[in-house]
Amino acid sequence: MYDLLIRGATIVDGTGAAAYTADAAVAAGRFAAVGPRLAGEAARTIDAAGAVLAPGFIDIHCHSDRYHIEQPAGEIKVRQGVTLEVVGNCGASLAPLAPERAREAVDHAVGGPGRFRGAVDWLSFGQYAAKVAAGRPVVNAMGLVGHGTLRIAAMGFAARPATPGEVARMSGLLEEAMAEGAAGLSSGLYYAPGLFADSAEVTALARVAARRGGFYATHLRNEAEGLLDSLDEAIGIGRAAGAAVHVSHLKAAGRRNWALADAAVARIEAARAEGLDVTADVYPYHFSSTSLLAVIPPWAQAGGIPALLARIADPDTRAAIIGQIKDGLPGWENIFHNAGWEQIIISAVGTPEGRAWEGRSVADIARAAGKDPFDCALDIIAAGNGAVSIIAGSMNEEIVARFIRLPALSLPEAIHKMTGLTAARLGLGAFGRIAAGARADAVLFDPARFADTATFEDPRRHPTGVRAVLVAGRLVLDGEAATGERPGSFVSRARQTHPQPAGGLS
Ligand SMILES: [Zn+2]
Repeated sequence: MYDLLIRGATIVDGTGAAAYTADAAVAAGRFAAVGPRLAGEAARTIDAAGAVLAPGFIDIHCHSDRYHIEQPAGEIKVRQGVTLEVVGNCGASLAPLAPERAREAVDHAVGGPGRFRGAVDWLSFGQYAAKVAAGRPVVNAMGLVGHGTLRIAAMGFAARPATPGEVARMSGLLEEAMAEGAAGLSSGLYYAPGLFADSAEVTALARVAARRGGFYATHLRNEAEGLLDSLDEAIGIGRAAGAAVHVSHLKAAGRRNWALADAAVARIEAARAEGLDVTADVYPYHFSSTSLLAVIPPWAQAGGIPALLARIADPDTRAAIIGQIKDGLPGWENIFHNAGWEQIIISAVGTPEGRAWEGRSVADIARAAGKDPFDCALDIIAAGNGAVSIIAGSMNEEIVARFIRLPALSLPEAIHKMTGLTAARLGLGAFGRIAAGARADAVLFDPARFADTATFEDPRRHPTGVRAVLVAGRLVLDGEAATGERPGSFVSRARQTHPQPAGGLS
């Protein structure tokens, strides 16, 4: 007796192989059988004629860290067909924490003070993972360890490279987290405090992650005019540390840098030809999402948010900050130069008085207030107590599409990139496939209707065309209805006993 029998689906199995029509049977959280006209009874049968059955999508780059604790039943990802999210990206994870700086590190990881109001009642990665699992999330989570989080634990927001003792402290914390199931190390060398680190510091940590079977994910130091140098830094760290490198949200930011896109791809292809394990992800939109603190020059972020707010409040220091936002600094990626105030749109503010700004550009808010936009941006940061999220339009949609297609894009290839290929990067042999024995995390969708409907103006609209979503063999979405089931787990790399699928890392 199966738990579920899906009849006559067009199966796109996650390996990149061509689609075929078959039945899929689910029992005890796994695919029990996949084949034509399966015999046997099931508690529930779905007639899937005309629908595609694919492995559940794996979102290797998200910042849902706090939502797995605050909103474990949240439907947003499930309704997109996502069954596993990787948190802890861009150098910012919720663990491990040092007791004396726990709240500061959490605030950093969630985009500013006031965002996560719950108790910080964990320190180690294992304790954090256990807390997520105990909340019974609807989707699965897996976690990277953020270099910024390690740095805050070891040295706060000190604006200098780490001492050998501090590197040893970070290495010890990372070693422990890897033993507790972390997927690897992430860095955000564009953000404070990660940007204060040199390559040697990050290499030492990437070596620890690699020794434990993890990979090194990075938000590059500079995605604008410094894109190629930053790719060289990332690849160099991987080469020196013996670590697989994953470039997060590959992009060429800023109109004047769009011409670097092909050279960036060539850099990655050259590294792969050299035998290095280098991969990248892209987001499917031409706006990026980050903090408004990204407009602030690095020196002004030394000491963290309280020190920054004090600098903004001091007229002379404020004038110096504004001068550098306007003129830039050598080597510093300046998001104002990439996007401009018209294309920097406030998406979330951590204080109630900031809500009225959400959905509006800095330029628009400044015009309405009769302010200079540079002053206005700093006023918004101050009013939001440093917790201000933005979306910034700095990318070219045609380049985004080109990256997504690499090298070519059929439906099986697109699904492979979102499932089997991603699972291989994460070292998860049992995920990302429709096959007997694989985890029954899957999405059933109508290929003619499956589309996003959300817009930048109305981001909460659900996609259309999803017929069902399975997590651990249980239906979490059944037609239009969320079932209320919460079968997700915190997926540990260390506990995976299944071998990686062979090949396919293209
Ligand atoms: Zn990032």
